[in-house]
Amino acid sequence: MTGPLDSWLRDKARVRADSGLRRRTVAIRENSVDLASNDYLGLSRDPRVVRAASLALHRYGAGSRASRLVTGTLGVHTELEDALCGLTGQCAALVFSSGYAANTGLLTAVGDADTLIVSDRHAHASLVDGARLSRSPVVIAEHNNVEHVARLLGERAQKRAVVVVESIYSVLGDYAPLKELAAVCELHGALLVVDEAHGIGVAGQGRGLSHQQGLAGHPNVVLTVTLSKSLGAQGGAVLGSEVLREHLVNVARPFIFDTALAPASAAAAAEACRIVRRAPELTDRLHANGRVIAQALGIEHAPAAVQSVPIDSPELALRAAETLRHRGILVGCFRPPSVPGGISRLRLTARADVEFHDLTVALSAVRGVMAELGARPVEVVA
Ligand code: PMP
Repeated sequence: MTGPLDSWLRDKARVRADSGLRRRTVAIRENSVDLASNDYLGLSRDPRVVRAASLALHRYGAGSRASRLVTGTLGVHTELEDALCGLTGQCAALVFSSGYAANTGLLTAVGDADTLIVSDRHAHASLVDGARLSRSPVVIAEHNNVEHVARLLGERAQKRAVVVVESIYSVLGDYAPLKELAAVCELHGALLVVDEAHGIGVAGQGRGLSHQQGLAGHPNVVLTVTLSKSLGAQGGAVLGSEVLREHLVNVARPFIFDTALAPASAAAAAEACRIVRRAPELTDRLHANGRVIAQALGIEHAPAAVQSVPIDSPELALRAAETLRHRGILVGCFRPPSVPGGISRLRLTARADVEFHDLTVALSAVRGVMAELGARPVEVVA
């Protein structure tokens, strides 16, 4: 049987395959060395986190059974919101069922036709989609360019403005100039939205780049986080003032019309927040492993969880990642359109919990496969 769109879908698939950009879902081998996932601190399997999730599972059940505003708000959600405030130093938190939902929920709730959204060129797809859905006029600022942001804010005709950035960028691992951006936003009466997806657990001894830059509780700054990377669980949150939280509870559609986060995920993330707060040395280990990766592969070290190797051909990058996967080593492969500048990258994450011996063996395999395939890191002109 053929469906009404099949020939059109097959044509699309052929174009993707011909340009080396086909994506597939592949189940991983459990015993692989994982240098690809976002479990930066290894907390997804930490016995304390697993125990917290398991207790919540037995206490509350597998699902939360309703949306937050019906009967889905459980004690564990409030506990998680408190733990997130404790970790980041923000006044109020609202949990969503993913980081994607937190970003779209926030931007659709603070944007409208009278609000200009200034979005960094490298902002994550969930921020881009939130800005589009908000029906706000959107302008793109050059990556990490504070003067450009200031100019766009100064020239605006709209009453309100929101500047949207990530704290640490997910592919290149570079840092946003948050202090300068917050000062510019303050000057122009704009809100600064900072996605700390890759900053929590990584910068500021785990408390995020905004905390490190002295912006915790700043009235112009709102954070979004995912619970699915350093915190090893699943879900997302927006952190800011009480009045913002109240607004989101009443208007953010991905909050209102979505079933509340599963209790086991909420309990796991709350425990992970407490662990990160008590053990800043976890992030030191992550950065030490990042330096080992960068040195072994001859790339510039990024002070982030992500170390990426630019490869000029998407086919070669994919072939290298697949060959490594068959040899039991998982590395990420980022290809257009999800890479800045259209340059494909092998993306290795410096997990805090990977054993030094496993890391060095895996890195020599990465070097070997790159040499076999003739895939050398390319020079990237900024
Ligand atoms: N923001 C950024 C910067 C991300 O990298 C991601 C995850 N890839 C998200 C938001 C979305 O988070 P989640 O996976 O929890 O939906």
